[in-house]
Amino acid sequence: MNELIITGHTTLTALLGSPVTHSVSPLMHNEAFRLLGLDYAYLCFDVTPDKLKCVTDAFRVMNVRGFNLTMPDKTKMFELADEISPSAAMIGAVNTVVQENGKLYAYNTDGIGYMQAVKDAGFDIIGKHMVLLGCGGAATAIAVQAALDGVKRLTIVNRQGASYQKAVKLADTIAKNTSCQTDTCLLEDTSALKQIIATAHILTNATSVGMAPMDSVSPLADETLLHPELIVSDIIYNPRTTLLMKQAKAIGCPTFNGLYMLLYQGAEAFRLWTGKAMPIPQIKEKYFS
Ligand code: NAP
Repeated sequence: MNELIITGHTTLTALLGSPVTHSVSPLMHNEAFRLLGLDYAYLCFDVTPDKLKCVTDAFRVMNVRGFNLTMPDKTKMFELADEISPSAAMIGAVNTVVQENGKLYAYNTDGIGYMQAVKDAGFDIIGKHMVLLGCGGAATAIAVQAALDGVKRLTIVNRQGASYQKAVKLADTIAKNTSCQTDTCLLEDTSALKQIIATAHILTNATSVGMAPMDSVSPLADETLLHPELIVSDIIYNPRTTLLMKQAKAIGCPTFNGLYMLLYQGAEAFRLWTGKAMPIPQIKEKYFS
């Protein structure tokens, strides 16, 4: 069995954000490096956006191979990268950077992670209608990737307030840049939402509603909006079964949570840094079961 040994040649990868100590990413990446016998290591650094330029400049000098960004650094990194992938450009945020010869190439793997999790759960949503609750950072990444991958229609739902205009703008950007048809709906407009959900194939909760410790709430006040043919997915993974998923299961909908989105966004970053596939079955068994 391989051991993870730090040598004079060890290639560094990292997570930058604040806070970072709760992250499962170091466990997942270091175990994957060990399993594949790669002389790489992954460390976490608590870095706020005001320090990000200083740290990424140092990473260039130190020839750090790549790094992940978590909140609140994802949008700041967008300004600091040398090149931005087309999907990260549409999302407006970066969660993975690869360094090649002193240049920082920026990506966003969150949406890729979600779309892979859909496949992993045994579903095919290409050419279908998706209803997405939320238009924050994670929702934006999912919306853009779903559209790029070929979801036919995307309805972005947000509660009334300043962010609703963000939803309208996002829907417009996606419609202009992909072949996906987009529309928006207010979360509070239950009669419009019921009609929209009636034709949908999948409903995805990308709001923070239902996440512990507020796990006794659901983003959908009225569960009769759901129907048994609808796939209901939550990107929250704490708790493993959210109230929304419980409501959906009671109606007979297939459901899955956000655990494998987390796994697959990491697997894509791992592939970008190492050129190798993460050993998914072993990582799943050890950290995602
Ligand atoms: P964010 O940028 O803060 O966005 C939060 C979204 O939730 C916004 O659309 C917000 O709407 C909505 N929201 C918040 N409170 C609400 C309420 N009471 N009623 C209705 N809508 C509400 O957060 P994020 O980074 O996108 O994360 C969202 C969730 O996804 C979190 O639970 C996070 O843990 C999870 N996540 C999971 C993964 C994964 O890998 N599985 C990855 C990233 C995030 P307003 O703007 O109107 O407030």
